[in-house]
Amino acid sequence: MSTTDPIQNSLKRLGSKLDVSKEIPDKSQQTKQPIVATTPLQFIPGIGLHRIELFHKIGVRRAVDLLFLFPRSYQEIAPYQSITELEPGIRASVVGQVVDRDQRVSFDGRGSVGILLAIEGGGYVRCVWYNQPFRREQYTMGTRLIATGIAKSTGISFEMRHPEITILAEDQSLPEAKPIPVYPLTEGLQQRHVASAVAAALDGIGNSIEEAIPESIRLLANIPRGTTLPHDQFQPLMGISQALRSVHQPATIAEANEARHRFIFQELFVYQLALAMRRYRLQHEKPSPKIEATPLIHSRILRRFPFELTRDQLGAIEDVRRDMATEIPMNRLIQGDVGSGKTAIAQYALLNAVANKNQAALMAPTELLARQHFARLTKQMEGSQVLIELLVGSISQRERSELLQRIAIGTVDIVVGTQSLLSEHVQFESLGLVVIDEQHKFGVEQRASLRESRTVPHYLVLSATPIPRTIAMTVFGDLDVSILRDKPPGRATVHTYLGNSDQTKKWWDFVLKQVQSGRQAYVVTPRVESDPASESIGAEQVFAELSSGPLQNLRIDLLHGRMDGSEKQQKLDAFQSGRTQVLVATTVVEVGIDVANATIMTILDADRLGLAQLHQLRGRVSRGSYPGYVCLFAKQGVAPEENARLSVLASTDDGFQLAEQDMLMRGPGDLLGTKQIGLPPLRIADLVRDAEVLSTARAIAQQIVASDPNLEQPDHAKLKRQVTQRHGAVTSLGDVG
Ligand code: ADP
Ligand code: MG
Repeated sequence: MSTTDPIQNSLKRLGSKLDVSKEIPDKSQQTKQPIVATTPLQFIPGIGLHRIELFHKIGVRRAVDLLFLFPRSYQEIAPYQSITELEPGIRASVVGQVVDRDQRVSFDGRGSVGILLAIEGGGYVRCVWYNQPFRREQYTMGTRLIATGIAKSTGISFEMRHPEITILAEDQSLPEAKPIPVYPLTEGLQQRHVASAVAAALDGIGNSIEEAIPESIRLLANIPRGTTLPHDQFQPLMGISQALRSVHQPATIAEANEARHRFIFQELFVYQLALAMRRYRLQHEKPSPKIEATPLIHSRILRRFPFELTRDQLGAIEDVRRDMATEIPMNRLIQGDVGSGKTAIAQYALLNAVANKNQAALMAPTELLARQHFARLTKQMEGSQVLIELLVGSISQRERSELLQRIAIGTVDIVVGTQSLLSEHVQFESLGLVVIDEQHKFGVEQRASLRESRTVPHYLVLSATPIPRTIAMTVFGDLDVSILRDKPPGRATVHTYLGNSDQTKKWWDFVLKQVQSGRQAYVVTPRVESDPASESIGAEQVFAELSSGPLQNLRIDLLHGRMDGSEKQQKLDAFQSGRTQVLVATTVVEVGIDVANATIMTILDADRLGLAQLHQLRGRVSRGSYPGYVCLFAKQGVAPEENARLSVLASTDDGFQLAEQDMLMRGPGDLLGTKQIGLPPLRIADLVRDAEVLSTARAIAQQIVASDPNLEQPDHAKLKRQVTQRHGAVTSLGDVG
């Protein structure tokens, strides 16, 4: 955007202040005024005024937007077609030799000139012009030429009216196939409209867009990691001007890809910079209390666990221990599949905080889960002086305000709660640690809002949604990550079956037998009420049918999200204690419920649920030492093995593998939870395809921010502007442009 011309520059600055949408198009200026980045579309030659609205629809308002309207893909158009490739009504090019000529006068007096081309590779095409007698002299017998026009079938052969002609020398080689960009469109807008508008913008400002990425970084970006070759063996990524041209008007696909690589890198790099800056800021803005797990404290906490910790648990605990011991706020994510034992890490951190005279908060996404955490912690700390309280929506007003007071004066050590911990003005006396369980249910903003509180606690999040590596790097890019891969020992495997509708009786017989031998069972269906329109079966109906049918002799109960907190809790308690043998439920049982004796799960209408959610559900029956059995039924008339998701689920129990598969099948944008946790909108990069570029971008971003945390070096000024404009909300550096 910067040129050396001061007048041009000030014009641009002025232009950026104008509200372009209110400008009135003035035809007389169309050709006079030079195009600048902010030139509104109506001043760009060749864009019909009636199409401006259509361009607005695809997000293009100014000249510069055209440049960054990246093609979705490219079509490789051969420069000419053989006779068999011609289709009536479709524009095409043919190469041939003039073998015959004719001149006719029709009954209405119009004259026509025709030439007959013998097409290379076989066949004939006649070209014809009306009222252009000079044509006859131009194309003498034997001339070799390319004719481009709309092919029209004459029944036995093809004809082109008024084609464009390129005369070729006898031995001239033919032009090569060219990639044609394919742009995102909206109804009424055609590829050629976009291509010509882009061409006008390229001519006007293609060379004056400023380069935001210094050459040294562009070079780093193009050096394969781990290479031993000297750097001068590599070329930097394409510069901006070249890249803009090559992305829109490439001569070859390879050139287009090289240009795209630059923009993909740029998009990912700018976001990674934002994350790295945010991380830096979180770490350096305000200190956290030093919470040191001395050897004494450490062993005292470990002694409270009723089991041996796994190697991964111990590793994660060491990470947490190290993080909490410094004034730099911890920002750590514990990623582990369902049942991998993440709670133990949380408990360690909580008790460590308390042992160091700090308060700690544990937040869960649902009240059920909060209560479960509360119950477990309380039990674990029986006989100690640690004071643990529960803060959830369903406690009475009086209890609440009394509790808030005690939290504020510091007599409560650990507060377990739901999001209400965040949304209300809960004042702590000395909050040293916040743990958030099931992070995928929380938004980035909520994380941020907690950040605004007076104290800066250490921060630990647990996520049971195994997230593909690339997504984690993007969404949780500002967090350190510990991963729990190995599961606690003594876990029996889960068997996953795909149930066909003719196997239901056999399955319920199996469930009955299992329950009669002492196990418990879940029956899950997504909806509360049946919906005949979508042929889905609701929990209420399932409950009614099972309790009067195949499972009638069992103690069976119903649980769903529309019940109030205390009713849910009662029902869950009854299941936990074994009084209820079969629990028919909606997906409320998805998150974190832990009943070790429940080993059988039936999922109805399973094809309505996402892979991650199904995997979460399955995790409910792999908690104890008995083998788990899950049977997935798809909706009426759908064979479950035809559903790719269900087949994948049945094929593996590894959550990380499932997450990768899920992303391949659905794309990163559709992954469970990624919407809530704020995946940035990507214009050209694709987290599945561009994982490698992402890693590079991340590594370089971290390197840059380590040496220049606020991007203050002159070299980085333009990058900083992009970071602020695009991701200001992430970095809290500024507004979103
Ligand atoms: P999640 O990672 O899904 O939150 P939890 O922390 O709830 O998993 O642990 C699942 C179950 O495994 C709990 O019943 C817990 O007591 C048990 N558990 C956790 N760690 C171990 C271990 N190292 N050895 C044996 N059992 C464990
Ligand atoms: Mg958990």
